[in-house]
Amino acid sequence: MTNLVLFGPPGAGKGTQASILKDKYGLIHISTGDVFRENIKKETTLGRHAKSYMEKGQLVPDNITIKMLEAEVDNNTGAKGFIFDGFPRTSAQADALAELLAEKRTGISAMIALEVDDKILIERLLKRGETSGRADDADESIIKNRIKVYYDETEILKKYYQQRGKYYGINGVGEVEEITERIRTVVDQLQKLNKSIL
Ligand code: AMP
Repeated sequence: MTNLVLFGPPGAGKGTQASILKDKYGLIHISTGDVFRENIKKETTLGRHAKSYMEKGQLVPDNITIKMLEAEVDNNTGAKGFIFDGFPRTSAQADALAELLAEKRTGISAMIALEVDDKILIERLLKRGETSGRADDADESIIKNRIKVYYDETEILKKYYQQRGKYYGINGVGEVEEITERIRTVVDQLQKLNKSIL
């Protein structure tokens, strides 16, 4: 299997790149943010639990998020692999993901980390907020909190995957196609080396 963690701060372009890459490589795209938003729309129990955290730009607690992610993976038996977009965001989530994949005799092939300056992130998110309908994109103080949460709680995961020889940093600034090409170079090389066939 090829299992990619698409990583980066809010506004780095994870969702955009994941939807292109899933078609190119035939992978299942799981965006935890999208799953939460769908649940909020459908007014499920999960949605009700997640809503208050998302509105403030805080992380949804690990136990809720991990359970949801496990269900999403289990709903896709027979997949060639996954693109995890917005997950993991904490060390507990990274450990849970490793354990879940190990049970399925597979693992993470690579973390692809999109690198973008904070100033550009804020500009991109405010622009996206004009059309996304997302309350957490519309308010600059919530955007800044999401970026702060990324640095405080999530960025350490770069080290987690670096220590396991799975970290690949990618320049996330430029045209969408250029960035896709940069990611493809890494993924194609990994597949050639068979590193991704676990
Ligand atoms: P995103 O769509 O990835 O920007 O996520 C939007 C919001 O959903 C985040 O600000 C969090 O409140 C919540 N969320 C998404 N993924 C996670 C996760 N892995 N852990 C905790 N909260 C998450």
